Amino acid sequence: MRMNGFQREIILDLLSSIKERSPFYAEKFKDVDITSIETQEDFETLPFTDKADLRAAYPLGLAAVPEKDIVRIHSSSGTTGTPVVIPYTKKDVEDWAVMFERCYRMAGITERDRIQITPGYGLWTAGIGFQAGCERLGAMAVPMGPGNTDKQLRMMVDMRSTVLCATSSYALLLAEEIKKRGIRDQICLRKGVIGSERWGDKMRQSIADDLGVEFYDIYGLTEIYGPGIGISCDYRNGIHMWDDYIYFEIIDPKTGRTVPDGTVGELVITTLRKEGAPLIRYRTHDLTRIIPGECPCGSRFPRIDIIVGRTDDMVKVKGVNMFPAQFDEVLSSMDSASGEYQVMIDHLNGKDIITVYFETDVPEADRPAAEKDLVERIKSRINITVIPRAVDLGYLPRSEKKTNRIFDNRY
Ligand code: ZN
Repeated sequence: MRMNGFQREIILDLLSSIKERSPFYAEKFKDVDITSIETQEDFETLPFTDKADLRAAYPLGLAAVPEKDIVRIHSSSGTTGTPVVIPYTKKDVEDWAVMFERCYRMAGITERDRIQITPGYGLWTAGIGFQAGCERLGAMAVPMGPGNTDKQLRMMVDMRSTVLCATSSYALLLAEEIKKRGIRDQICLRKGVIGSERWGDKMRQSIADDLGVEFYDIYGLTEIYGPGIGISCDYRNGIHMWDDYIYFEIIDPKTGRTVPDGTVGELVITTLRKEGAPLIRYRTHDLTRIIPGECPCGSRFPRIDIIVGRTDDMVKVKGVNMFPAQFDEVLSSMDSASGEYQVMIDHLNGKDIITVYFETDVPEADRPAAEKDLVERIKSRINITVIPRAVDLGYLPRSEKKTNRIFDNRY
């Protein structure tokens, strides 16, 4: 996707002062002649910023403003060691709320709605972002945070909440409880704003039906404001991204080069307006693609696809990037496949060979047809030719983790 004029102007302006404002980027770009950056192609030569860089800047090394201008910090989870701390200025907090209000509006939520917010509040960014956007919109917030299902449902009924903000897994839990308690007719929900986790379409639709809502996928990450930098619309064909606040690229995670629109790769984000901790070419490690063309909803904001996985899950074969979600999708679209599968990648006689084992309950005589069907579906979805192997139900070892379904035996 081409960088537009507005973005280019802001980025050049950002770059011109970044070394003075940010000790972090002064160090990172110490060997880069910033004044030579003029075009999108020049910009694409800048080094990426990765989570490890942010971690190394702990605690406040990312700050690009005097300390007196920092009004809040957020921190991403420290499950893998030192946390990342992101400082926000007053303007950053406002900008985030502006984007979040836009998300609610995109989802058809108005000041008449009552928004039950179940993501957590605190260091992690989620809850407070949902809250600030809600108040800016003028809707009524029911700020629950996660857990305490009894109280959650009581408030949902008594406050007549019309919008549920939750992760998919929490929405599922609530849907099950509502069914179990037989209180569906006391629930007034009409919309669900759901954090973008990858869930099977069938599963999501059944949670939405149980709750009686329409789901909207919201996207974001703590390093770049938090949730709210993009959301899906009524057509549910991707996530509209607020490209007046962020500039995004899709790169091949192996080579670092940008890929053509429509090709899956890693989402890389540059903040256009962030003061507290501007980030340039930040690698999200989320896999998605730019959806070319215009959305039928008429919004001018460009779209990315629902996040299909993380870069760690990806394997490259014959120049094609593959990841488990694509196989999940193909297998779940086939009536003749149970959904259990294994992909084996081997290097034989100088060639990479991909074998897909899939469990099926169709009789022996019909298996060649099922195998042919699989080959064609994979060819059209992933653009790669595989060797199919239909096997009996229960033949393949079971694994908790989806990522354990692709085995790369080449190295
Ligand atoms: Zn749209």
